[in-house]
Amino acid sequence: MLEINNLSKCFEDLEVLRDVNLTVKKGEVVVIIGPSGSGKSTFLRCINLLEKPTGGEILYMEQDITKMGKKVTDYRKQVGMVFQRFNLFPLKTTLENVMYAPVKLGKVSAKEAKEQALELLRKVGLEHKAESYPSSLSGGQQQRVAIARALAMKPEILLFDEPTSALDPELVGDVLEVMKQLAGEGMTMIVVTHEMGFAKDVADRVIFMDGGYIVEEGAPCDIFTQPKHERTKLFLSRVL
Ligand code: ATP
Ligand code: MG
Repeated sequence: MLEINNLSKCFEDLEVLRDVNLTVKKGEVVVIIGPSGSGKSTFLRCINLLEKPTGGEILYMEQDITKMGKKVTDYRKQVGMVFQRFNLFPLKTTLENVMYAPVKLGKVSAKEAKEQALELLRKVGLEHKAESYPSSLSGGQQQRVAIARALAMKPEILLFDEPTSALDPELVGDVLEVMKQLAGEGMTMIVVTHEMGFAKDVADRVIFMDGGYIVEEGAPCDIFTQPKHERTKLFLSRVL
């Protein structure tokens, strides 16, 4: 569904991504790990074109999205993103946050959007918070609302950039549980995370990035128990 070939990204003379290649099949869960500054966020941001790649191609359903022109808005609707900071609209209720984009884009009527949003809030365990404002929710609850909001657009792919790293440890589990459930339902996901337990349990493939390269990729059991590269070994020895 997604095929990335020789992707590169420079910020002026700083080369942040070099020759990155990745293929993601429908329903696959790919987890990206790697040290700070290795280019993980930039990679995700290139995939949904928040950043414009400097070189290479990103094929979505065999079309190069870097050369799509106006049609890129359609592509963006199919790729949801959940950030480390939840970025909810502070002056809207939980329900309004989840309803907002589908209504604004005229995808559905307000009534339908509301029903759908309530259903999504139920899915992330927060139906009872529909009328609450983000400031009255815990970080973990806010992040689950952010996931519901991303799902409201019915994306084909969901990108997560360290969705639990801003959370207190006791709140991490609920968010991971929701992500696990989505993975189980067949959602295609690319997840940058430091939660190695999640990677082991849920990932179909783990990618280790360092210095803008994909150093190594493989099944979680291989990467975690018998990494091939010294840099992967060193990184894992620090985080496991
Ligand atoms: P972390 O684990 O800390 O989130 P990361 O792997 O997500 O790190 P990126 O945020 O992708 O790393 O950053 C990779 C490199 O690109 C860093 O050296 C960073 O300073 C640089 N960089 C990122 N965004 C920009 C930008 N908009 N302008 C210039 N340099 C940038
Ligand atoms: Mg990052």
